[in-house]
Amino acid sequence: MSQYPHLLRPLDLGHVTLPNRVLMGSMHTNLEERGDWNAVAEFYAERARGGVGLMVTGGMAPNPEGGVFPGASGLYTAQDIAHHRIITDRVHDAGGRIAMQILHAGRYAYGPDCVSASAVKSPISPFAPRALDEAGIEKQIADIATAAARAREAGYDGVEVMGSEGYFLNQFLVRHVNRREDRWGGSFENRMRLPVEVMRRVRAAVGPDFIVIFRISLIDLVPDGSTWDEVVTLAKAIEAAGASLLNTGIGWHEARVPTIATSVPRAAFTWLTARLRPEVSIPVITSNRINRPEVAEDILARGEADMVSLARPFLADPDFVVKAASGRADEIAPCIACNQACLDHTFSGKVSSCLVNPRAGAETELIIAPTATPKTVAVVGAGPAGLSAAITAAGRGHAVTLFDRAPEIGGQLRMARRVPGKEEFYGLTDWFAVMLDRAGITLRLNTEATPEALAAFDEVVIATGVTPRDPGIPGQERAVSYIDILTGRVEAGPRVAIVGAGGIGFDVAEFLTVDESPTLKLQDWMREWGVGDPAEVPGGLAQPAPEAPLRAVTLLQRKPEKPGRKLGKTTGWIHRAALAAKGVKMIGGVNYEAIDEAGLHVSFGPARENPTLIAADTVVLCAGQLSERSLADQLSAAGRAVHVIGGADVAGELDAKRAIDQGTRLGAAL
Ligand code: NAP
Ligand code: SF4
Repeated sequence: MSQYPHLLRPLDLGHVTLPNRVLMGSMHTNLEERGDWNAVAEFYAERARGGVGLMVTGGMAPNPEGGVFPGASGLYTAQDIAHHRIITDRVHDAGGRIAMQILHAGRYAYGPDCVSASAVKSPISPFAPRALDEAGIEKQIADIATAAARAREAGYDGVEVMGSEGYFLNQFLVRHVNRREDRWGGSFENRMRLPVEVMRRVRAAVGPDFIVIFRISLIDLVPDGSTWDEVVTLAKAIEAAGASLLNTGIGWHEARVPTIATSVPRAAFTWLTARLRPEVSIPVITSNRINRPEVAEDILARGEADMVSLARPFLADPDFVVKAASGRADEIAPCIACNQACLDHTFSGKVSSCLVNPRAGAETELIIAPTATPKTVAVVGAGPAGLSAAITAAGRGHAVTLFDRAPEIGGQLRMARRVPGKEEFYGLTDWFAVMLDRAGITLRLNTEATPEALAAFDEVVIATGVTPRDPGIPGQERAVSYIDILTGRVEAGPRVAIVGAGGIGFDVAEFLTVDESPTLKLQDWMREWGVGDPAEVPGGLAQPAPEAPLRAVTLLQRKPEKPGRKLGKTTGWIHRAALAAKGVKMIGGVNYEAIDEAGLHVSFGPARENPTLIAADTVVLCAGQLSERSLADQLSAAGRAVHVIGGADVAGELDAKRAIDQGTRLGAAL
C-alpha cells in the first residue's frame, strides 16, 4: 500500500474525479505579463506531468480596474481566450486539470482606477480606491461572471473565485473597509451580499458541470476582521450559491503577521479548516506551509481537510506527487519557504522562480539534457553552488567527484539551519545528501583538493565559498566571528554587540535572543505574533506576547540607513519585527573605534562625533565576506582552466539563490 493513502485517494466532485487530494495553489509567475504564453503553458504542463490533482493559475483579472497593476494579465476580452487555450491544451495533453483564478484586487490594485466598497486606502498601496455605486457593483459582478464563462470557453476545468487575502470580495466583508450604509454594507448579511452574489452569478454563467472553487478567508489577521460566526455564515451561503469546493485563505496582505514565511510553523492554520469542515457539505481545502507529503498525509488522515493546497512546493519540485506516489519522497526538492526567488521576484517585476529549483519559470530556457560526451568532473566545495553543479552534471551522465575539507556537506547552509525559524534548511541539506547519493557522485569529505589530485579530471569546478571579511577594528582579537557563534564553538555572554547588520547579522541576533524556536511549537508562535482564535477575537488578531529575549543585543552598521533595508522584499519586515519584539537595538551610521573589555566603542558621522560605548560581554563580527579563491588562483597560475562559481566567484550579496542558480546552470552546460 502507498505510504500516503489519504493524499493519493481520488476525490469525486460529481461531474469529474480528481486523481488525488493535491491542489497546486495559485501563484503569479509574471510570465503572463511578458506575453510568452508558450512559457506559461510549459510551466503548468511540467507540473501536470508531475501528477498534481488540480492546478489553479495565477490570478487573472476580470477587468482592468480589478488588475493587481495596470496591464496585469487577465481575461478582459474574448480575444484573450486564445492565449489561455494554449495553456489548457498543453495541460490536458499532459494529462492534467487546471482552473483559472479570477482575481479582482479591489483597493489592492496598484493603480489610480482601483475600486472598493468604500474609499478607504490600504496601508500597502499609495492609491485610494473609488467607492463603487450600485451600477459599479453590478458591473464588477457581471465582469467576474463573464470572465468565468470565458474561462470555460478557454478550456479550463474550473475557476477559483478569489475571496480572501484582503482582495475585492474580502473588502466588502469587513467593516474597516466597508463603511457603506446601503444594501451592500452594514449588517453581515449586507456585507456578504457581494461575494455570495458573485458566486451565484459565476455558477449561473458556467453551468453545473464545472469546478468552481471559492477561496474564503478563515482568519483575516487585520483589525475588525471577520468573526468565526461570520466565516461560517459566509461559507454556508457560498455553498448554497453553488461552489464546488472551499479553499482556505489566511491573512490579508496588509496583515502584520507572517502567514507563509519560513518561520511560520508547518501546517500552522489547518486547525481553522478543520473547524470549518463539519459546517459545510462540500469539500474543503487547507493551505499554508504544507511542504512535505507526510505533513499533508497527516492533515488528511486527521480529517482536517478533504484536500491540501501547496503552491511554492510546486516551484521547488514539479514532481512532488509522482515522487510521493512512487516511494521517492526523499527526492522531493523541499520548498524552504524563503520567498527569495518566488514572491520577492514577483514583487520586483521579475519572473518567479525558486531558490532550490532555478528551472521554475525557466522551463523552456534552462534545459538539463543527458550529455553526448560524458566527462570526469571534479567539484571542489560542497556548499549550495558546488552541490548543485555536481548533482546537475552527474544527472546528465558525467562522472563527478565532489571534494570538501569539512566532514559534512552544506557549506554555509549548515549554519543557516541552526538559526531559529530557519529549520527548513535541514530539509535542504538532507535533500542534497539524498540527491548526491542517487546521482552516484563520489563524495570525498575531510579532503583537501590539491592541484595534483585535480590534474586528471576533464573539468574542474571551484566552489570554495567565502571567508569572513576582516573589518580591521582595533582590539578585534577580543571579538568572535559569526561562525564561532552559529557553530556553537563560542557561547555569547548576556550582552552582545553585533558588527554588521546584513543577513547574517540579523540571523545571529535571532540566534542569540531566542531560546526555543517558536517555529517548532505552534502555540508559542501564535503567542509570539498575536494570532488568536477568530471565535474569540475578530479576525483572529490578539495581542502579541513574545518571550523575553535570552540576551541584550545591539545590531550595528556603518551605513546611515535603517538596518535590514536590504533583506528580502517580502520577508525583511518579519525579521525586523521579530528582532524588535526581542528588544534588539538597531543602530546605523556608526564608526567602529575599538573593542575592549568594556565592549564596542563607536562614534557617529564623518566627524566621528558622539563617542559611545556599546557595553558588551561579546562582540560578534558579521561584516560580510570575501571570496575564497586561493585554489582557483593556484590552478589558473599553473595554466589550468577552471570554472569558478558561488561565493568563490562573487562574495558580495552572495546568497543560496545565486549559488544554486549558478551551479545548476554550469552543471547543465558542462
Ligand atoms: P552582507 O549582507 O553583505 O552584510 C555585511 C554587513 O557588514 C553589512 O551590514 C555591512 O554594513 C557590514 N560591513 C561591510 N563591510 C564592513 C567592514 N569593512 N567593516 C564593518 N562592517 C562592514 O553580508 P552577510 O550578512 O555576511 O550575508 C552574506 C550573504 O548571505 C548576504 O548576501 C545575505 O543576503 C545572505 N544571507 C541572507 C539571509 C536571508 O535571510 N535572506 C540570511 C543570511 C545571509 P555597513 O557597510 O553599513 O557597515
Ligand atoms: Fe520555496 Fe524559496 Fe523556492 Fe519560493 S524560492 S518556492 S519559498 S524554496
